[in-house]
Amino acid sequence: MSVAHLESQSQITAETFRPLYDAQSAYFKTGITRTYEFRRTQLKKLESIIRENESQIAAALYKDLRKHPQEAYMTETGAVLEEIKVQLRNLKAWMRPKTVTSSIFLFPAHSYIVPDPLGTVLVISPWNYPILLTLRVVAGAIAAGNTLIIKPSELSPNTSELMASILNEAFPKEYLHVLLGEGATVLPGLLEHFHFDHVMYTGSTSVGKKIMAMAAKQLSPVTLELGGKSPCVVEPDANLKIAAKRIVWGKLINAGQSCVAPDYILVHESIKTVFIETLIKEIERGFGTNPQKSSSYARIINQKRFNQLLTYLQEGTIVYGGQYDASDLYIAPTILENIHPDAGIMKDELFGPLLPVFTYKDKQEALDFIDRNPYPLAFYLFTSSTTTERYFMERLRFGGGAVNETILQLANSALPYGGVGYSGHGRYLGKYSFDTFTHYKGIVKRATWFEPFFRHAPFHPMKTKLWRFLLGRK
Ligand code: NAD
Repeated sequence: MSVAHLESQSQITAETFRPLYDAQSAYFKTGITRTYEFRRTQLKKLESIIRENESQIAAALYKDLRKHPQEAYMTETGAVLEEIKVQLRNLKAWMRPKTVTSSIFLFPAHSYIVPDPLGTVLVISPWNYPILLTLRVVAGAIAAGNTLIIKPSELSPNTSELMASILNEAFPKEYLHVLLGEGATVLPGLLEHFHFDHVMYTGSTSVGKKIMAMAAKQLSPVTLELGGKSPCVVEPDANLKIAAKRIVWGKLINAGQSCVAPDYILVHESIKTVFIETLIKEIERGFGTNPQKSSSYARIINQKRFNQLLTYLQEGTIVYGGQYDASDLYIAPTILENIHPDAGIMKDELFGPLLPVFTYKDKQEALDFIDRNPYPLAFYLFTSSTTTERYFMERLRFGGGAVNETILQLANSALPYGGVGYSGHGRYLGKYSFDTFTHYKGIVKRATWFEPFFRHAPFHPMKTKLWRFLLGRK
């Protein structure tokens, strides 16, 4: 895309946005996006432009976040391609109207549900997984037959500009269009003045509140995919080596800037020392003794976040790591102890490579600690006991999670992905995406050869009796 095109997007206001909004509304009303062939073709197109631009995507992610190409493929491009495959494989079945039973008092009737596209969907995405958290959502909205406006984050400019460039070139703007610009400047003009048939927002809880308030002005429905402090509990019966491996992987991928990264560890007091030693071994196995030199270790997104993380570093005893380099936006993988539970680091979502470790004596104590930051987006438990697994799963409210694993709940399109309470509402992935971007129209079709006289006025005790009889009541 030309620079002129990008520049022309920098001044989006309600007024300048109207022609695009009207064009998408008109395009949707033609019905073209509804057909199976159209949806399939667009998904295929998305798939092929991702494949064609795989190396440019990896390069942009490297520039924005210093992500290793393997990490970029594992956690972004590859995961989007997988989601497109799932949408393509199931599209026909999901689009089919479904017959359901009809109550006896409706006899003779046929009831069915029609999956209907919503209309124009607004996708607002963050910087930490800019490809994954934009295009996985986009795949679901395309499959469901909508038109799309996409607003990626200004904080990952290389990836956002690349997405705008390749998507805006491949798709007509009346069907799908990427808008660039600062969220705080661009989005009020859109959300407060236009009704969107769905708004899918992924980002921080604080901005999520603003998005929901703005969307409410036009009664636009919203899905909020937010953040939170995701705890990781390590029980004494866990396989400690595997636990350390998987926690280090989940914590340090994207230098801890993952919404579902284990935020802090609650380890049983009896195994704390040995577990911390195992964690350190695992960090050094993956990233060496100086991770700044490792090509597998990403960087902090910007100076503001970097400074915030440095303040957290002061809030505990550094057991391991603690080095940083502002000129490189580098912060070493760091294990912290002796943190006051009311410190800032335990109030905000950490979103960086710092790993606070706390201990607990019994499960109830662990639950009480987690409850200080209720509704985490993710919860991770390391144990070999199914009784322990049931204990935590039945008592904690959280978006989604894993047992003896971290993060990979996101990798299964058969699982709903979303938060609860302060970590968001609504869900997506696979069929859940199709459902999120679909309106299910319920239709009852009645035959005309029979008309029950007792439904009509004038009402009468005998008619009431018949009606009650049909409903199975005396
Ligand atoms: P961000 O700053 O990139 O913001 C996300 C989007 O909101 C961007 O498109 C941005 O332009 C827009 N925005 C920012 N400020 C705005 C404002 N004042 N008004 C309107 N729009 C605005 O990303 P972020 O919010 O810093 O992302 C990090 C947060 O996102 C973390 O809390 C993380 O946990 C959360 N997150 C959640 C998920 C999830 O799937 N639940 C995934 C990734 C990140």
